[in-house]
Amino acid sequence: MQQNVGKIIKVSGPVVIADGLRGAKMYDVVKVSEKKLTGEIIELNGDKITIQVYEETSGIGPGEPVYTTGLPLSVELGPGLIQSIYDGIQRPLDVIYQKEGVYIARGVNAESLDKLKKWDFKPMKRKGEKVVAGDRLGVVQETSLVNHYILVPIGIQGELVSINEGTFTVIDVIAEIKDISGKIHEIQMLQKWPVRKTRPYLEKLSPVEPLITGQRVIDTFFTIAKGGTACVPGPFGSGKTVVQHQLSKWCNAEIIVFIGCGERGNEMTDVLLEFPELIDPNTGKPLMERTVLIANTSNMPVAAREASVYTGITIAEYYRDMGYNVALMADSTSRWAEAMREISGRLEEMPGEEGYPAYLGTRIASFYERSGRVKTLANEDREATISVIGAVSPPGGDLSEPVTQNTLRTVQVYWSLQDKLAYKRHFPAIDWLRSYSLYLDQLSKFFEEEISKEFVIIRKKAMGILQEESELEETVRLIGIDALSRMERLTLETARSIREDFLHQNAFDEIDTYTSMKKQFLMLDLIIYFHERAKDTMDESSEISIDQINHLTAKNQIARSKFIPEDQLDKFEKIKNDIDQQIKSLISENKRKDE
Ligand code: ADP
Repeated sequence: MQQNVGKIIKVSGPVVIADGLRGAKMYDVVKVSEKKLTGEIIELNGDKITIQVYEETSGIGPGEPVYTTGLPLSVELGPGLIQSIYDGIQRPLDVIYQKEGVYIARGVNAESLDKLKKWDFKPMKRKGEKVVAGDRLGVVQETSLVNHYILVPIGIQGELVSINEGTFTVIDVIAEIKDISGKIHEIQMLQKWPVRKTRPYLEKLSPVEPLITGQRVIDTFFTIAKGGTACVPGPFGSGKTVVQHQLSKWCNAEIIVFIGCGERGNEMTDVLLEFPELIDPNTGKPLMERTVLIANTSNMPVAAREASVYTGITIAEYYRDMGYNVALMADSTSRWAEAMREISGRLEEMPGEEGYPAYLGTRIASFYERSGRVKTLANEDREATISVIGAVSPPGGDLSEPVTQNTLRTVQVYWSLQDKLAYKRHFPAIDWLRSYSLYLDQLSKFFEEEISKEFVIIRKKAMGILQEESELEETVRLIGIDALSRMERLTLETARSIREDFLHQNAFDEIDTYTSMKKQFLMLDLIIYFHERAKDTMDESSEISIDQINHLTAKNQIARSKFIPEDQLDKFEKIKNDIDQQIKSLISENKRKDE
């Protein structure tokens, strides 16, 4: 397929300049030198082309050849993606490790998808049917957790003139489609797609459902929508990894795409070692059976990091097109932005803020824009979503730096992980005063209809109490707790209860690790119920002290409510009755004392 040969004139790290390549197009993939290092054309200037190379360029110099492939940087899509561990340009790391060892030799070419492996293909359409792009032609059981639908490739429609049941490799022809002009298209299970191009869909829809994660602070207070975007900064030791693992394990997306762009080598090895160990709690199977992992190892140059987020999101779009809810996690997008900065520097572009290219904001926005809830291309009326959760790692925790700022401008949810909360062992260390979700209004209908009419009200009350706490704390700091009224002390006490009994959630406790939406509501409702009953009682009787309220056994019952199993949620009603009883006896006790 090599159409033409050019010549290197300059090498600067991952950036190579060449000339003499006629007919080269922007974003075409080229092979650099006799070592055939993979690169991509990122600038065309007359006869001169600029290439970013995805492999180490040391020892490569002027005069060496450059070959074009005439094709844009693309991923292979088809059965076998799930459970794979890829690098940024979709080379299977696991296969390469077996072949080459930990250090990937340059110019290694391993197939992204296994071309020999056979899959059982079951047709879902019959010969003679009319099909359009995106229609499900048939299905392959990719893993025990994932049905992989083979779709009519984008750009093709017509009449199905043959379709075969049986075992096939991804490059065998499984069907033939005759288009309007009479041309026959042979369909394989393998399809290719250029990573920098958004895969088309019929229509973008606004999100209407939450991505339920079972993590109370996220689901109840800072909800991410299915098809939404969130950003989480992760100072070291703040519990970022635990949050990401919890989301991967528990969120109600069927497919997980995890992109790891580690800075230091060991960060990435952690992902490679840890992820395959995770168990899918709903099935007991390895989480990898519904996961695609993209990892950049330390010995790979920055350009591969730049490519990895596109490789990841394209794979996510492919599963979305089958009708799945996909959750994509990128850790960390700061590393991706740094790769952009390095390349831009080598290109001697005019730098923007802190040396990042001026197009940083646009690039970040267009990545997150590939998320969303959509009506897929097919005639089959399918809806599907991609939710994107991007971690940022601002140097020194400085959130005013350009990557964080540009990300926050784009995403709708911000989970502010704070190391100071982690030091206090408040986990998940998501700061309830700084975090936000812009989906709350949009999703309130869902919460009111599916969970409880009271959901939005209770959440608002709880958030109000937490905000009041932070103001009261200021007073306490200045003039001491004695300056507070009984009611204010009740507010502080309830705020403590919201923090400790609701927001604290132990990822390593069998029951506490996941809380259904219904139970989340019941837990918070219980805290607010107690608060309001206590308030009414104190209103009625000036004799009742905050200490008496605090000593009610109901406080203990509330604190233990997180350990109530999901199949015993009727216990919450009982605790409410107990609260009534205890308060009643408190009142009569006080009356007796008066007499
Ligand atoms: P980071 O990736 O930000 O460096 P980790 O996610 O590894 O931090 O978390 C550090 C430690 O904090 C964990 O080993 C664990 O002990 C504790 N931790 C974090 N989140 C939770 C949680 N939700 N429940 C209990 N412990 C947690």
